[in-house]
Amino acid sequence: MYAAARRLLSSRARTCAAAAWAPSYYYSHSAASSPSRPRFPTPREIRRGLDEFVVGQDKVKKVLSVAVHNHYKRIYNESSNKRSRKSLPCGGVGTSGDDEIELEKSNILLIGPTGSGKTLLAKTLARFVNVPFVIADATTITQAGYSGEDVESVIYKLLVAADFNVEAAERGIVYIDEVDKLTKKAECREDRRDVSGEGVQQALLKIFEGIVINVPRKRSRDNISHGYVEVDTRNILFICGGTFSGLGKMVIERHQHCPFGFGIQICHDLRNRGWTTALQESCYIDAIENDDLIAYGLIPEFIGRLPITVGLTNLSEEQLVQVLREPKNAIGKQYKKLFKMNDVKLHFTENAMRLVAKKAAARETGARGLRSIMEDILTEAMFEIPDAKEGKEKIIAVLVDEESVGPPHHRGCGAKIFRDDGALELYVYQNNIKLPGLIQSNPRRGRIFRLCLLVALSATKLWIYQTLPCFSSIYDWTGLMLCKANVFTQ
Ligand code: ADP
Repeated sequence: MYAAARRLLSSRARTCAAAAWAPSYYYSHSAASSPSRPRFPTPREIRRGLDEFVVGQDKVKKVLSVAVHNHYKRIYNESSNKRSRKSLPCGGVGTSGDDEIELEKSNILLIGPTGSGKTLLAKTLARFVNVPFVIADATTITQAGYSGEDVESVIYKLLVAADFNVEAAERGIVYIDEVDKLTKKAECREDRRDVSGEGVQQALLKIFEGIVINVPRKRSRDNISHGYVEVDTRNILFICGGTFSGLGKMVIERHQHCPFGFGIQICHDLRNRGWTTALQESCYIDAIENDDLIAYGLIPEFIGRLPITVGLTNLSEEQLVQVLREPKNAIGKQYKKLFKMNDVKLHFTENAMRLVAKKAAARETGARGLRSIMEDILTEAMFEIPDAKEGKEKIIAVLVDEESVGPPHHRGCGAKIFRDDGALELYVYQNNIKLPGLIQSNPRRGRIFRLCLLVALSATKLWIYQTLPCFSSIYDWTGLMLCKANVFTQ
């Protein structure tokens, strides 16, 4: 559906360069020049797209889907207002009251622990939205005039993403990661400027609010700038993300003497049962108020420009297992693909997956921990495989089982490497391991069966060639199909 809409977009874009980045759905209707309302991707459709790549975080997915859908509506509203103003004589006098209502954006602040999917959500959103989209890092920004990037560079990146189409850039979406690193520096003396913290917040709030800024025009190959273009940031949607570690603790302290609400009660229960601080903190995310963010170090004006604050929760063990195997870009699938490039099959047992998730949960680094654990388990195999290409040394399969992962606070023995044909099957059979995609049977029995099959087929071939030569081609075809199905080799 999106692909079709994009194709439509590209054909129209040639004829209508100025509006090349408007939503695909918008084009499908504007072409007919009918005033009927265009069909944007609904929040549910955007959410479905996010679901394919991101596990859990239901509330954030909903908030982002609604925000992006409303962004499309705002874009449509503005362009239809422009059109109606142009078509009316006397500069648009006589427009209905509704046309004068200006739709304002609601920028978003995502708060969540590391490895909970903030950046992934932003990246996935970028796949689906058909407006220019950039991800910027707040830690690289400094106040204008000091070394480092200034906030204008974020808009410059957006302009690059829009292929220097100013009108398109003015409708784009910007994700700014690590905004929690912009808090006021406690060590910064009164007489000194906080150029990487509060100074950047001040600069950002201007572009959040909407100003016209001068951005360098496309640079030519000789890197000579060709002047500046004006970009209005009024309609650019800003999504900010940050870990805000320790913020949960501050909320806990605030609520210590006045517990209220369902979530808070659960957190008290968790504390009484001695659960981890990270889990407790993520529980308090829904109770965060602006005062907590101010106490953390954000300035009130900055928070005021981010009216939607939404929290991501720590991923549970079950969700970490899902992250390993279910999303389109699941970590397990990525490693399988990496091994397949060397014709090696990578297998994970169910228990190994659970153990990897348990280890990652113990590290409190969310899904980020999964990758480092997997790297640790698979390093030896990944080192060996590229050299062992041919002959007896050739590696056929790699297995990650419980032993490979090891207990939660210790290293395992690493992935098991199998070089012989049938060695994996024999190991799986002997250790009574259940492997998805591998039929558990005695491999010796399997070999005998295959040998018998070969003998029987050869005998049949001889008989057919001798008695019914006209059927020989059918026989050849059957043999070919069986070979293709790997009946003799697997
Ligand atoms: P952060 O919240 O720190 O920005 P990221 O979004 O960068 O975390 O996540 C790091 C990696 O962890 C991602 O590339 C992805 O592989 C995995 N990951 C994190 N959260 C999720 C999730 N909710 N669903 C699927 N994968 C996830």
